[in-house]
Amino acid sequence: MWIDTHCHLDAAEFDADRDAVREAAHQAGVTRCVIPAVHAGHWPQVAQLAERHGDAYALGIHPLYVPQAQEADLLALDRALTERRDDPRLVAVGETGLDFFVPELCTPDMRERQWFFYTAQLKLAQKHGLPVILHVRRSADLLLKGLRQCRITSGIAHAFNGSHQQAQAFVDLGFALGFGGTLTYERSLQLRRLACELPLSAIVLETDAPDIPPQWLYQTAEQRALGAAQGRNSPAELPRIAQVLAGLRGVSLADLAAASTHNAQRVLPKLVPA
Ligand SMILES: [Zn+2]
Repeated sequence: MWIDTHCHLDAAEFDADRDAVREAAHQAGVTRCVIPAVHAGHWPQVAQLAERHGDAYALGIHPLYVPQAQEADLLALDRALTERRDDPRLVAVGETGLDFFVPELCTPDMRERQWFFYTAQLKLAQKHGLPVILHVRRSADLLLKGLRQCRITSGIAHAFNGSHQQAQAFVDLGFALGFGGTLTYERSLQLRRLACELPLSAIVLETDAPDIPPQWLYQTAEQRALGAAQGRNSPAELPRIAQVLAGLRGVSLADLAAASTHNAQRVLPKLVPA
């Protein structure tokens, strides 16, 4: 039994075959997906999708959508979190965070705007008693500062790729770190080392589908130039990604499944594993 703690099943890449994709994941043993929303326009859809497939969802504004987001979206988020308070499938605020990799998001104005939307969402998470699902890209230290300021004590730093020290700081705050397809690349030396050094209790698994294809789905620029489509990641890949991590850590797949499921439930307390 596996939980994909970060899967964008609402993405347009799945429009043609979403139900089949979810069913394939189910067949592969993925009993739950957590579907984080990226902007206000998708909130109803992620809730409906979670309902339809027995999954869970989060509501938030992703940093990449901060340029077009409105301050009114934060009021709408507060309202949506209130209205859906009793929905057992709503397990977190997210996807929120900070992205200091994309150049357009790194201007002084945009950095400030990202910080505004991030901390506003943290305050809503605090107000509604929910954990947060964080997008971390060259932003771990500022994310941590926000979590401390807003006294957030639970959540997931998704697709984590920072230092050991930063990882430990998230763990100390009560967070788990999400690992996925990036682990499957032999050249991910630092990340692989981190995934082995951290206590198992710090780790949750995710695909970030349709993004971050594992190594076996990846097409190089040369292959793409010859007409190969970039592999679309899907939640059914989770057990195979887990197998890579189990091999690196020298634990059995069963133990990794049990531990990662337990961890996901600890940091997302409303999540029902199966
Ligand atoms: Zn995401």
